[in-house]
Amino acid sequence: MPIKLFNTASRKVETFQPLNKKYVSMYSCGITAYYYTHIGHLYTYTTSDLLRRVLEYAGYDIRHVMNVTDVGHMTSDADEGEDKLIVGAKKENKTPAEIARFYEKCFWEETVKMNILKPNTICRATEHISDMLHLIEQLEKNGYTYKTSVGVIFDTSKFAAYPNFAKLNLAKQEAGARVKIDKERKNPWDFALWVTNQPNHLMQWDSKWGKGFPGWHIECSAMSMRYLGETLDIHTGGIDHIPVHHTNEIAQSECATGKKFVNYWTHTAFLNVNNTKMSKSLGNLYTLQDLAGKDFVPLALRYFFLGTSYRKPINFTWEALNAAQTALVKLWKHCLELPAPACEVLAPYIKNFEEAIYDDLNMAKALAVVWKLLESKEDASKKAATLFHMDKVFGLDLANARTQLSNLENLKKENLISKDKKYLEKEFKALKLIEHRYLLKQQKKYQEADAIRDQIKKLGFSIEDSKDGTILKPI
Ligand SMILES: [Zn+2]
Repeated sequence: MPIKLFNTASRKVETFQPLNKKYVSMYSCGITAYYYTHIGHLYTYTTSDLLRRVLEYAGYDIRHVMNVTDVGHMTSDADEGEDKLIVGAKKENKTPAEIARFYEKCFWEETVKMNILKPNTICRATEHISDMLHLIEQLEKNGYTYKTSVGVIFDTSKFAAYPNFAKLNLAKQEAGARVKIDKERKNPWDFALWVTNQPNHLMQWDSKWGKGFPGWHIECSAMSMRYLGETLDIHTGGIDHIPVHHTNEIAQSECATGKKFVNYWTHTAFLNVNNTKMSKSLGNLYTLQDLAGKDFVPLALRYFFLGTSYRKPINFTWEALNAAQTALVKLWKHCLELPAPACEVLAPYIKNFEEAIYDDLNMAKALAVVWKLLESKEDASKKAATLFHMDKVFGLDLANARTQLSNLENLKKENLISKDKKYLEKEFKALKLIEHRYLLKQQKKYQEADAIRDQIKKLGFSIEDSKDGTILKPI
């Protein structure tokens, strides 16, 4: 059965055909390791994981490469602002390398919790500087670069296909939306390959153009080509990468090699929270840690992602996550009741399942097959075999349902204990404040005594004075 995939490059659903019969090369833009991963990132990485699992299910051998950006990603995806790694390092009073290793470790732990398969190759930008310098040299040799006082710049006007991928309207953009970052740049879209003359930047390497550090985009071009060759089968990322990061990756790679860079581009849509954009300032940027605090296990989030098409923005709400976890628990409980799997799977269900997953990863439809199967009167051991077979793609750990269910129970218990502990700590503080207030009143310091009432309120209690003393009540 052919695999159909939506290709961002053509904006069409295409039949997937790998370059090489033996394996599929797949590159995923990894994290910039300066902070915790939020659920929007996890949506993108879960999509890449599902794609990889579908291809593996179909019998392909996958060479999956993911980078870790630990230098050169500015606070805007273009070249403006400060290096995110340095911002993070300053904030936490650590070195950029310490920051990068710490958040990278957190990220891999989270992917394990989400049942996201580890890439075959993980590559850090700081460990591939020479690959980047070689690529920049090639671009210089081919006549696509120019030098300014702040580094080596890619001349986008030399690459006629530059606007095609993102369907950019450069004329309109030049008229206003995007301003030149500095006067020396020839075109507003030109971007830095190598940044020099930044004496305060904490990570610098020698090069023929002077001490400096790489631009974010060149990192992905250099590392993907290093491990997967000049043309990749698949490149994945978030939809926000299309206009700048991936457009620039294509420009650099194709101008250096003269070959097509990527055959299939897959992009995951945005994750919104309560129909608004997720952002730190709105306080709705959630991590797995936040979910755990509300009794949700990571695989509930995975199940939630399976309910939609990766090409549509997904709207995260606590109610929706709760519905996903309830369904998943039901599914795990069903699995507990099933006998040992038979050797034989139920072919009609597998057929419907495969039709769904090969149709541009229609996971919602594939999940519907699961529920239909559970409601059917088919032989229970064959049901089990069919379910576990499908779970190679879903990654819901159905074979370990008992462990998963007890993990969920443990999480709920831990949360209850920590809530109790927090409550008792607050109650203790409030009682101390009441004592203090009593003393103040005795000293006729009524204003100060009144102020304490507010402090107690902040701890979540109200107070009532009576003949027998002061009574503390939770609000
Ligand atoms: Zn990238």
